[in-house]
Amino acid sequence: MKNLIFNFSLFICLSLSSNELILSPKNILDVNNGEIYTADILIKDGVIKKIGKNLSSNTNIEVINLRNMTLIPGLMDAHVHLIGNNELNGYESLAESTQMATLYGVKNAKNTLMAGFTTVRNVGAGEFADVALRDAINNGIIDGPNMFVSGPALSITGGHGDNNLLPYSHNHDHGDHYIVDSPWEARKAVRLNRKFGADLIKFTATGGVMSKNTDVNARQFTSQEMISIVDEAHSHGMKVAAHAHGLEGIITAIKAGVDSIEHASYINEEGIKLAIENGTYLSMDIYVSDYILGEGAKKGILEESLAKERIVGKIQRENFKLAQSKGVLMVFGTDAGIFNHGDNAKQFKYMVRWGMTSLEAIQAATINTAKLFGIEERVGKIEEGYQADIVGVSANPLDDISVLESTLFVMKKGKVYKKYSDSLK
Ligand SMILES: [Zn+2]
Repeated sequence: MKNLIFNFSLFICLSLSSNELILSPKNILDVNNGEIYTADILIKDGVIKKIGKNLSSNTNIEVINLRNMTLIPGLMDAHVHLIGNNELNGYESLAESTQMATLYGVKNAKNTLMAGFTTVRNVGAGEFADVALRDAINNGIIDGPNMFVSGPALSITGGHGDNNLLPYSHNHDHGDHYIVDSPWEARKAVRLNRKFGADLIKFTATGGVMSKNTDVNARQFTSQEMISIVDEAHSHGMKVAAHAHGLEGIITAIKAGVDSIEHASYINEEGIKLAIENGTYLSMDIYVSDYILGEGAKKGILEESLAKERIVGKIQRENFKLAQSKGVLMVFGTDAGIFNHGDNAKQFKYMVRWGMTSLEAIQAATINTAKLFGIEERVGKIEEGYQADIVGVSANPLDDISVLESTLFVMKKGKVYKKYSDSLK
């Protein structure tokens, strides 16, 4: 009996130590201040336990040699659309079932994680396919990033989130709860999204580039409707993301108390001042324009959308530069799903070209986005006590931001998903 107890305790010890490992990189980037330092990282049960030198002495813990890499915190994207085949555009997209869209989501989630994006916010998905994808990832069924999901985006009738491709004779009313035309319908839509598993609320406060017969400058939703959405969401502890290109929609949404403005294309000095006063984050997708204008016609994006993008993309970049120079809170959001999932990091060099330092661009995709998500106490930094979401790249990204486009190592919650040898396959 005594032997049995001894053996059992030995087994416990071994199984515990197997949850530990050490990363031994060339160096680590401190995203707080841009300092590069040399140290190893001890990880246990998915959490960074210790950062320092000679952590591996006198132990038999597995050491992962990353001597050719600089480590940074896992990257975050505040604006993705993982559900669906992103090759389908315009009327082709009408033929895609939710089931097929969700299966593409499995592939898209993996590509996103392998690109070094360990946390994303999915803003808009039909029939709560995003909830299923998030839960499948959390349950270990499939590989993907940590996800915050909105469920269906709320839209006015005929708004950016309504299905405007169908004529009246084919536009059967499915009772889609995301179509909202009063403050009380707004509250009910928020309640339903929460009930079925959404983490946050997304609504469309103006027309959009990719929707038919909407004007990017036209405000959608009244002030009272926006206030109802935000009040109801915040009372349940849910954040609110407002899609808004035009200035009136931006300003009305900020005054209603949203947590982030998505796109923010026509923001001006007044809007920027309001965003700063209210602590509203801007999520400005300044890479996607080049993709839409370069590839869009070939990919079947409607000419109406291309025409809008030719105007909006340029203005958005100029206003990104203005907003950045005024010190607005900026997160990294790309609209991946219009372009290929896994190409998210292409936006970094655009952010640098349009006024950010490399460090500011990386902070936007780590500590700033973590703050918007409300997880800054445990995600977004390589520090003791933080979740072990860690990415390895070939050089210091402050010297060359483009190294973020080809990650060599990806770890999420202490589990290795990609090592350099994998990326050679
Ligand atoms: Zn979007």
